[in-house]
Amino acid sequence: MSSGETKLSQVLLIPSSGMGHLNPFVRLANALSDRSISISLLTVRPTITAAESRLLSSLPSSLLIDFPLAPFDPSLFPESSDPVTLRWEAIRRSAHLLPSLVSTLSPPVSSIIIDITIASTFLPVSVASNIPCFVFFISFASMLALCSVSPFVPHPICTDVKIAGGVLNIPYSSIPPPLRDPNHLFATQFIENGRALTLANGVIVNTFLALEPELLAAFNAGEVVPGFPPVIALGPLPLEKKLPSSPSPALRWLDEQPEKSVIYVNFGSRSAMSIEQIRELGAGLEMSGCRFFWVVKTAKVDREERAVQIEELLGEGYVKRVEERGLVVREWVEQDFILVHRAVAGFLSHCGLNSVMEAAAAGLRILAWPRGGDQRVIAASVPSSGLGIWPENWAWEAEERVVAAEEIAVKVREFMADEKLAETAAKLGAAATAAVQEGGSSDQSWRYLITKL
Ligand code: UDP
Ligand code: UDP
Repeated sequence: MSSGETKLSQVLLIPSSGMGHLNPFVRLANALSDRSISISLLTVRPTITAAESRLLSSLPSSLLIDFPLAPFDPSLFPESSDPVTLRWEAIRRSAHLLPSLVSTLSPPVSSIIIDITIASTFLPVSVASNIPCFVFFISFASMLALCSVSPFVPHPICTDVKIAGGVLNIPYSSIPPPLRDPNHLFATQFIENGRALTLANGVIVNTFLALEPELLAAFNAGEVVPGFPPVIALGPLPLEKKLPSSPSPALRWLDEQPEKSVIYVNFGSRSAMSIEQIRELGAGLEMSGCRFFWVVKTAKVDREERAVQIEELLGEGYVKRVEERGLVVREWVEQDFILVHRAVAGFLSHCGLNSVMEAAAAGLRILAWPRGGDQRVIAASVPSSGLGIWPENWAWEAEERVVAAEEIAVKVREFMADEKLAETAAKLGAAATAAVQEGGSSDQSWRYLITKL
């Protein structure tokens, strides 16, 4: 992102909170900037995670605008302990402060792009201010479908949800757990945001036509929700191409591994596993006999990651025993570069939207192990698109079942030996590349978006 050249439109981007939201917003900002759109990014500080703070510090400060929030009392939501959802709420409740801030900006703002999680309050404000407003939906079109029909289905959701006459069927077992709870803050936000979507000038989704063809067609034919704004599928957003000045030891370790030999294991920026499940996973990876690179997380927020030694988690001697073919780390790693590393052959992933899109863009096969939130809805597209496999009986965070080491070992071995899967994933990667090339479906969406901004 640079701030020097003459640009056409002035677009204000308003992300919410969480690395899974800031990362795609920064990629969108970069992609807009590459298309001669001038951008500013509204930021709320201090950020919840250290990773967000590092990412913001890496951007030119001239692009960042501070957004001081209205006073917010989290104790109003005693049932919600997730700091990210609470931050979404604090931002949502500060929408009335936007017009006065926008009025001070020069050149004047021509459009706004907001995060889905703050849509219900920011969309009416931008409509009242007469500024076109697009929503960036931070998940797949399948989750967008659930969000957009959520105001029209009984709550809490206690059955399967059928969308567009069966174009998509989301089984009850995949419904995000908070939506099954009538008092959950996430559920209230989700329904209110879903209801407000019809006010948007368009909904941007980091997906591509070949990944969700029928559903994207149904959306734009008005079959999901009548009168729904255009759904602009412009993925995959480009990944970071500039290697960090000091690559992590993890990347150096990968450099020493044979071609296509390693399974990369990472459950994203905010999924923590129980110690018991971590131990079974550790034993499973060891038993599988495969080379692995595993990022272990025990806390949802990185600043709270306890300084527990890996030995304490996995037992004395684990690291030494596996060192010939396994690397275990506890810190943030450069996933953009890992997924395209020549040594990496597969990805054991929690199926956060970004991780799945990044793997699709890299044509890298996924072994899906969704942990919560929208991850089962997203995981469903892993087998259906040929990107990978999903052992659906593997438990998610809210369940008590612990998946045993033996089960993990067998599946990892099978997955890594599956050459057919490697081929179908590579094919999807080629479709992702074609989508963003000139004339491809995402390229056309980009052209449409640029004319509207
Ligand atoms: N990520 C990373 N290094 C890590 C963990 C995560 O670069 O060690 C990035 C990952 O590439 C993705 C984002 O953080 O862009 C996580 O978003 P995702 O939607 O996959 O999952 P979430 O963290 O929101 O659950
Ligand atoms: N979401 C939504 N509407 C909302 C809040 C969330 O559609 O009001 C979607 C959004 O795509 C988000 C996803 O639900 O990414 C899952 O939220 P989760 O709590 O798992 O957090 P995230 O992984 O996004 O940080």
